[in-house]
Amino acid sequence: MKKFINILFRHRFDIIYGSILILFLLFMFIFFPKTETKNIINAMENKSFDLRQSIISKNKKSSDDIVIVSVDDPSYEYLLDKYGDWPIPRDVYAQILEYIQSQGAKYVGFDLLFIKSLNRIPQSDNKLINSFKKYKNTYTALNFDNYSKELRTPPVIDDKLKTKITLPDSIKPFEFTNCRLILSEIIEATKNIGHINTPKSDDGFIRQIPLFIKYNNDIYSFMTFKLALDSLNIDIEKSHFDKNNNLIVGNKKIPLSNNAEAILNWYSPKYDGDYTFKYISFWEVLKSYEAKKNNNKEILPQDTFKNKIVFIGTSVFSLSDIKTVPVSKYMPGVEIHATLLNNIIDNSLIRKASNSQNILITVFLAFICIMTVFKIRSVTIGITLFGIINIVFLYISTYVMEKYNIWIWTIIPLITTVITFLYSYIIKYLIKSRDFEYTYKLATTDGLTELYNHRYFQEQIRFKIKQAERLNTTFSLIIADIDFFKKFNDTYGHQAGDAVLKEVAKTLKSCVRSEDYVCRYGGEEMTIILNNTNRESAYLIAKKVCDTIASKKYQLTPDLEVNVTLSLGVASYPNDGKTPSALIEYADKCLYKAKENGRNQVGFIE
Ligand code: GH3
Ligand code: MG
Ligand code: MG
Repeated sequence: MKKFINILFRHRFDIIYGSILILFLLFMFIFFPKTETKNIINAMENKSFDLRQSIISKNKKSSDDIVIVSVDDPSYEYLLDKYGDWPIPRDVYAQILEYIQSQGAKYVGFDLLFIKSLNRIPQSDNKLINSFKKYKNTYTALNFDNYSKELRTPPVIDDKLKTKITLPDSIKPFEFTNCRLILSEIIEATKNIGHINTPKSDDGFIRQIPLFIKYNNDIYSFMTFKLALDSLNIDIEKSHFDKNNNLIVGNKKIPLSNNAEAILNWYSPKYDGDYTFKYISFWEVLKSYEAKKNNNKEILPQDTFKNKIVFIGTSVFSLSDIKTVPVSKYMPGVEIHATLLNNIIDNSLIRKASNSQNILITVFLAFICIMTVFKIRSVTIGITLFGIINIVFLYISTYVMEKYNIWIWTIIPLITTVITFLYSYIIKYLIKSRDFEYTYKLATTDGLTELYNHRYFQEQIRFKIKQAERLNTTFSLIIADIDFFKKFNDTYGHQAGDAVLKEVAKTLKSCVRSEDYVCRYGGEEMTIILNNTNRESAYLIAKKVCDTIASKKYQLTPDLEVNVTLSLGVASYPNDGKTPSALIEYADKCLYKAKENGRNQVGFIE
């Protein structure tokens, strides 16, 4: 552990830089306004939501209390044969409603707009209007839009259809500027009218439903939301919001987005081979109604709609109420209503994890990745573990959605772990290579003078001989020894001796080319290996070194200036010797000559 902390400390700048980089990226992902990157990440996160939904929806069963009556292909054909062009006369819906209510349905919601039309048949419309008057548990829809007021004047909508609720400032519902009104007699007959606007995400998918929208500064609720609260005996006017945009109403906690949308928890269109929601064809209901009226045998069992909540809509392609949702490319709009209702009843609407929760998860994952890289020696195992960590994380994110209805980020954590993982490996190898460099330097240099050490000198001279042999070239060796250095130490002290030794080493280095090697042979003896240099040139260089050192003064104390001299010997390959020891011996002999002749000179053998 101590070693680990040491390493971290030695490489703290890379680590600090890396952490800042990662935090910066995270910051950019989360807090920047809508940028392209953010859009791409959002799109990927949505896809990851869809994938999780597809997985978990397979094990989910919807409520048996919900039934969908739909105009499917056979019904459409039947209706066209019977009534000619679409739309069909409104009394057909009155008949359908009559039949469903006669069986004792709890609630009925029409995912259909009963708009004033030119070819309306007043008697037929009246039958439907009367049905709305008669059955107070029946709901229908209104659709807002943004058409020009030159096309149609934005209508004033009856007060009773408004939802009296104050939204917190953090929630900005979608606003609409116009609306196509439905038959005014239906509005007179019932207050059970909500909007059915379902804005799509950028990719055309519907993942969420706006429970509230704004028109003329008034709030309107989604039709099925109204129906759901009524079925639960909850009064929306007695609701309030908590600080996390949850609508607290009755004993329900409904999480809303900044646009007042609820994220749906989808059901697979098929469950166990059958449709998840119970679908009944429109034509079957119609024929049953007729059979009942004529006292014939009905097609549908008598308790088909008993105590059920029934949605009526279309599922046929040509009537274009088909939507794309996370679990299916083709879902009839009416099934979206069934899904919302089921989610509200079950308390299973999806809640997004908060930014801080997501960041915490991301940082935790990044930390595990860093530990994996630094603790695991094998790269293969490291990469495998990295894969496992991410797969486990994806599994957990799916589990959390299934079990707790919480949507946690997956894309930002995945991107962050990849970056952290790669960056940790870069740091790890940087540390390794630097440690190697450091050890190599320790092994080859002398601590005091920073010249190459004795071992390195021996290695190099062997290498130089081999090289010169092969290339048929020459090189030279200088041995230098400080004169009367023992006396110097005795007079001025060892510390002064060390300082002068360092300075002499520096001067030696400055006198030769960078490709030459200056080494500490031992004590106050130093050697220089001169590449591609013959005896004459080497002698001149040795002379230059000798003169430079002799002329140099060292300031020991403010009023004490000293100098030292060198005695030097030179040997060249191959003339003076062909082995390391022969060359060293020859140079040593020359050095001895220099000492003999009075020092401060380059010695030579006649
Ligand atoms: P000369 O070579 O001129 O004959 O005399 P000398 O006094 O230099 O001879 P000798 O080789 O006997 O002594 C070498 C001295 O160098 C002994 C030691 O005190 C000194 N010396 C060797 N290594 C170091 C060192 O690392 N630091 C210091 N301060 N002195 C050193
Ligand atoms: Mg000596
Ligand atoms: Mg000496």
